[in-house]
Amino acid sequence: MQQSMPNRLAEYVDAAIATVPYYRRHRHEYLGRSFEQLPLLSKQQLRAGFPSEFLAAMTPVSSWIEAGRCEVLSTSGTGSDKLFVVANTRLPAFPSALPALWGLPEDAPLRRVAVVSSPSCAGGSCAAGYEGRLFGGGGTLISAMPADLSEGEGRARAIVEDLWRFGPDLFFANPSYLLWLARSAQSLGLSLPRVSVVISAYQFTQRCTARAIESLLGCRVLGNYAASDLAGCQAAFECHRGRYHVFEEQCHVEALDASGSPSLDRLGRLAITTVGNDLYPLVRYLVGDLGIVRAPSCDCPLGAAPVVEIFGRGSEVTFAEGSFTTCRELDQLVSGVEGIDTYRLVQLDAAHGILEVVLAPGAEPDLTALCAAVQDRTRIAQVQPRIEAQLSPERGLKFSTIRSYHGRAWGHESSSNREQT
Ligand SMILES: [Zn+2]
Repeated sequence: MQQSMPNRLAEYVDAAIATVPYYRRHRHEYLGRSFEQLPLLSKQQLRAGFPSEFLAAMTPVSSWIEAGRCEVLSTSGTGSDKLFVVANTRLPAFPSALPALWGLPEDAPLRRVAVVSSPSCAGGSCAAGYEGRLFGGGGTLISAMPADLSEGEGRARAIVEDLWRFGPDLFFANPSYLLWLARSAQSLGLSLPRVSVVISAYQFTQRCTARAIESLLGCRVLGNYAASDLAGCQAAFECHRGRYHVFEEQCHVEALDASGSPSLDRLGRLAITTVGNDLYPLVRYLVGDLGIVRAPSCDCPLGAAPVVEIFGRGSEVTFAEGSFTTCRELDQLVSGVEGIDTYRLVQLDAAHGILEVVLAPGAEPDLTALCAAVQDRTRIAQVQPRIEAQLSPERGLKFSTIRSYHGRAWGHESSSNREQT
């Protein structure tokens, strides 16, 4: 029988102290305390310790890399400087409870995975030819996405041809790139191969984008929550009921309140413990995202695991008149309007913002009314709409929902409404 999570966490921390230099050196901060009182691990600490400080001792890392047991991964560097980790490649990429988790028939094919990500997430694989982009014994194809989506339809045609040659059962996709591909195919009169499900990953999923993909591809779009810094671990999967369940086989997720204590049902900074990975263990790592953790309540195969609601990056927020607005809060507003494929709110200063929108073909939503609602929600005095053919990606080639030049990251100030200096 599976151990309880508190016991697993205690054993995980003990093993980390015994085998990993960082935790061994800091053991006085880890021994004799309850898990909730253990130190939080920051990106700076992880960056400074790469690779040997966090790598379990006695790992023959170079021969393991050669044997494919681990690999060096980097974050995309969208929010900050790139961060490198040694990732465990032996961890399952999906829960064993498929296809029921996604509400698919028992015989739904899920073996062939087409990865549609930003070129930076593909780790250089995008530049390779077809054979060079096949992985996992040929069961996974990484599509060769362009760094610049305005590059046009010629690239899209080649990608679509590749996908038909491969014959995927599911897409594991950055939603912005997949929607660009599906819209490009549509305007070329081409179709994408039919798949069982699309798993949306790598960045915050806007509901409007998911909806557009669902209507173009004729299947559900469900989310995956992970991060490259989690060293190969997956933090949560969305079930067919629309709930993101913590993938407890690999991760324990806490949402920290203003005092740094984990709390249920309140928005906070997410701290993740990669309890399924003893190769590069992370204990209470501040991954940079915001969310709410709720007690389990679902009838799906992961229904016994807590639910986490993802609110986006802590750095992707607006700030005006003492109030923060997160990606999820903005999305509840913008994605409620029909006819928008994707969007980004750019906050220029305390009182001015631009809502960049990419419209679905032929759609004419009332953007003036939408911007008024965004002004109300964010307290940014003036938000102007701007229709774009494509949004430009961020530095790490992902797409943000909020870009702020106003220089404030979500923090403790939101509970007291004090202005951050
Ligand atoms: Zn569920």
